[in-house]
Amino acid sequence: MSIDINQFTKLFMVDDLAIHIDEVPWVPQGDRVWFKPVRFSLANGQWINLLKVKPGGVVNRHRHTGGQVMAYTLQGQWRYLEREWVAKPGTFVYEPPGDIHTLVVEGEEEMMTLFILEGSIQYLNDQDEIIGQDDVFSKIKRYKEYCEQHNLEMRKDLFF
Ligand code: FE
Repeated sequence: MSIDINQFTKLFMVDDLAIHIDEVPWVPQGDRVWFKPVRFSLANGQWINLLKVKPGGVVNRHRHTGGQVMAYTLQGQWRYLEREWVAKPGTFVYEPPGDIHTLVVEGEEEMMTLFILEGSIQYLNDQDEIIGQDDVFSKIKRYKEYCEQHNLEMRKDLFF
């Protein structure tokens, strides 16, 4: 007997998922910068994280390669030194592969923004030489080391 396509799909599909952000720790990323991971995709190198930057915090000048970036601002204000616009709650940002910029948070309020990233982030010095790199694996490494230092279980459901 043949089965309905929806019943058939259930045999193969992956599980759905709901992660509350309060259940994920803030992992330090730099001076006045933290992230909470919500997805590490090992199949395509994508990662999704909530980024928090306190006033005066900077994400050093970097170049995106091998993928695009999308961001949705939830709280506070931030901007790129190289751009005219200012992101505030409700601002959606798209960063194409090849984009180079420096993220800064000025003023009094910390910012929180959901970032969906792919590929690599290449940190550049003033001579445009690559001095560091982040990708899905370096983000996993930071999260894993934070969990080990604080006796937390790494959440397996963030890997999908
Ligand atoms: Fe960027």
